[in-house]
Amino acid sequence: MSADSPQELLAQITHSLHVYVQSLQASGVEGLPSSPAAHATEGALAQPASQSALAVPEQAAQVSKPQKEPIAGPIDIAIDCSDGPGALTGKASTATPIEEPSAMAGVHRLEELRGEIGDCQRCRLCEKRNSIVFGVGNPNAEIFFVGEGPGYEEDKQGEPFVGRAGQLLTQIITKGMQMQREDVYIANVVKCRPPKNRNPEPDEIAACEPFLVKQLELIKPRVIVALGKFAAQTLLQDTTPITRLRGKWQSYCGIKLMPTLHPAYLLRNPKEKRLVWEDIKAVLREIGRL
Ligand code: URA
Repeated sequence: MSADSPQELLAQITHSLHVYVQSLQASGVEGLPSSPAAHATEGALAQPASQSALAVPEQAAQVSKPQKEPIAGPIDIAIDCSDGPGALTGKASTATPIEEPSAMAGVHRLEELRGEIGDCQRCRLCEKRNSIVFGVGNPNAEIFFVGEGPGYEEDKQGEPFVGRAGQLLTQIITKGMQMQREDVYIANVVKCRPPKNRNPEPDEIAACEPFLVKQLELIKPRVIVALGKFAAQTLLQDTTPITRLRGKWQSYCGIKLMPTLHPAYLLRNPKEKRLVWEDIKAVLREIGRL
């Protein structure tokens, strides 16, 4: 969503702050230092985050994590989420840049990030999951596919997109794009299976989103492909139907993002495969493979 109105800009800033506070809480930070930069958001953040309007659900707040070093100060991150995830590239922003949480600042490799996630208890999805489905693929991938969340097979096997929809995604990559799964990177908005494949809740997404942002920062793909309504609408903070979003370039944290239809939808509507092929061709053109 581009911030065309003050309401939209406010929604983007609120979303960014929410993700940031969740990251801090996930890192063991219990309060925020007062500084000129913090002054603008004093109303929402002056109290400990757990008591503020941006509080995490009770269960996440109860997780006992080892105490981490306090935040040293702003840290440059390679990808630009300063407009808030979902902000369109090239649009001027008045949003305050997001500082990287201290625990994530020391993370320079995907394996370290997986270690940081640990046996995650940051949201209620931990209760029913079998696996944390972190992501697979090339750590230097040019293309990063983002799905919604693990399903039954993914939860069982610990790998994204390995069920029926996943097999179709694999065909798109191998037969359509003439690439291998190992050439791209594949992950989801949330890393744990929502019970009965329900949609992830906003607080579950907020608890998990810092890890997706960090995956993007480490991999630095040239293009993100958002698979389906949920991934596209969540990443872009835009409720436009996927049928209208698809095929049009967007941006997430400064990285070009192509929304397209979810492979599970294609299983039910095989005629729509041609639309996905159009979107994938645009992606291939973008990275010079077509
Ligand atoms: N659907 C998704 O969105 N992600 C998966 O990993 C599998 C199915």
